[in-house]
Amino acid sequence: MFSLSRCPLTSRVPLTRSYARRLGTSLAAVLLVACGDDPQIPTAAAPVSTELLTARVGAVLQNVPTVRITDQRGRIIKGLLFRWRVASGGGRVVNDTARTDGSGVATSGGWFLGTAAGTQTLQASADGISPVTYTAQATPGPLTSLVVRSGTNVSVPVATPLSAPPVVRAEDQFGNGIPDLPVTFAVVQGNGSLTGAAQVTNADGIARPGSWTIGTMAGVQRLNATAIDAAVGSSASATISITAQPGPAVSLVKLVGDNQRGSFNAAVGIPPGVRVVDQYGNGVGGVVVTFTPGANSGVVQSGTVSSDPANGSAVVGAWTLGSADTQTLVATAAALPNASATFTANASASQFDLEVRFIGATPSPAIRQAFQSAIAKWRTIIVGDLHRTSTVHQAGLCESWVPAINEIINDVIIFARVDSIDGAGGADGNILGQAGPCFVNVNTRLTSYGIMEFDSADVSGLVADGSITDVVIHEMGHVLGIGTLWNFQRGFLVGSGGTDPYFIGAGARTQFAALNTQTYTGNPVPVENTGGPGTRDGHWRESILRTELMTGFLNRGSNPLSRISAGSLADMGYVVNIAAADGFSFRAALYSFPFNVGTNGRAMHNDIRPLPQYRTDAPGRMRRVGGSQ
Ligand SMILES: [Zn+2]
Repeated sequence: MFSLSRCPLTSRVPLTRSYARRLGTSLAAVLLVACGDDPQIPTAAAPVSTELLTARVGAVLQNVPTVRITDQRGRIIKGLLFRWRVASGGGRVVNDTARTDGSGVATSGGWFLGTAAGTQTLQASADGISPVTYTAQATPGPLTSLVVRSGTNVSVPVATPLSAPPVVRAEDQFGNGIPDLPVTFAVVQGNGSLTGAAQVTNADGIARPGSWTIGTMAGVQRLNATAIDAAVGSSASATISITAQPGPAVSLVKLVGDNQRGSFNAAVGIPPGVRVVDQYGNGVGGVVVTFTPGANSGVVQSGTVSSDPANGSAVVGAWTLGSADTQTLVATAAALPNASATFTANASASQFDLEVRFIGATPSPAIRQAFQSAIAKWRTIIVGDLHRTSTVHQAGLCESWVPAINEIINDVIIFARVDSIDGAGGADGNILGQAGPCFVNVNTRLTSYGIMEFDSADVSGLVADGSITDVVIHEMGHVLGIGTLWNFQRGFLVGSGGTDPYFIGAGARTQFAALNTQTYTGNPVPVENTGGPGTRDGHWRESILRTELMTGFLNRGSNPLSRISAGSLADMGYVVNIAAADGFSFRAALYSFPFNVGTNGRAMHNDIRPLPQYRTDAPGRMRRVGGSQ
């Protein structure tokens, strides 16, 4: 054998073949010799620490892996080269190689775990001895996201439980599932219901609610899931969206165009339409609907319509009325033998022509229908032809938004628009709309055209509470002269500005007397004596006539257009059909409950527009005759 040349340093010496065989190592193995002693043959390597290794993914272990090497006699060996290698888990070690120190210990310098949760291994090896394997358990990192794994963006029928509840997974920044975190589910859109809304993630970070029953509303429904990692104070949320499809169609619901008024042999203003709906009221598309006129109820165009997949609506192309006073149109669907919807229209034969032209954005169908109904209403009252008025003038004459006109008007045109006036509200003085005549015919001294303007801030409320039609009829009455032309080259209004203004037209007075079976002994017909210039002297007196449509207040419920109003129109020169007026009980009106704006109706305050009024003579020459501008 060899003797040592230096001491106390160790040195390498080659092994003999026989020694190597006995040790079971290769010829490449090394033999260490200790100072002043026989050669040391490394025989064992053992971990210095046996503590369980555990840390979060990506973290360095607190206990640095180290090994101690001993020889055949159990003595430590100094200076032996050790190799450190991450065997699994993808981490890294600080020292790829290290020599044993004076205590026979070789250190890895530190083990940074890889990013995959679970078992990771590190090997220490040296020539001639069996490698030592360290095993660490890498735990997931802090919660960073909640991932929807299944059950989102699916399409299911309304009002049914999902066959498989949606699944979410709590994950760290590396996508490792995090167990044992609380997850809470909540319905955030749609009227569905949950069971088992509070869950805890399983070993793989997975959680799902007990069940989710989709609500009855078709469309998108959403579930929110939130996981909380209390240990690090973080949370993460996810949203699950499903599309609820309508159920089977069961009925037809009237959508638009019922209870219109129109003229014989003329199309109604709003083509009637239905919605095909399921049992929950969701629109159902693709159902063929057929519109069939009743007896003497005219004809339709495009009377067979497939319902719109977007909302279930089916609207007839057009309905031209026939000869009956009351006409019907029935919507049916072959697929729904027990369902139908019947529309009614009342036709009249008035010779009075009244046309509305909308300026600006086209109003909604509900508003257009209100105007059509108002036109039809006044045409039942005013039945005679009125006048032809040759009209030529530039744009913006009465109002900035009124267009230029060059035509012969027959009989009355109303320019109408919905725009901002003074904001929404029901407070005293808030204006819902304003209206009045602009031009009058020189011969009849009655309106040839006028304007109607509604406050956009109030209109939706009028539509929602069902008062829009009455409001439009009321304002149209002002265009036609009620409260606006009483003293225009006439003298029907007496006492204006005082405490007891009243209307002295014989037609209105006759109707007032017939209805006044009670005790009003003042001057007939009493006119409003309160309010501003757009209110007083321009309406029937609310304190006496209460529910009548042309008082300064609109009532909830019925607002009859009485024979008094019809009579006043006759006084001014219209040919009227008194019998077409609404039933009106002066007694009931007199003793109706005291008016309250907030709960019973709307103030029509200041709705008379103080327009400049012009008249045109026969050749169309224009002369200004009144107004405040
Ligand atoms: Zn009014």
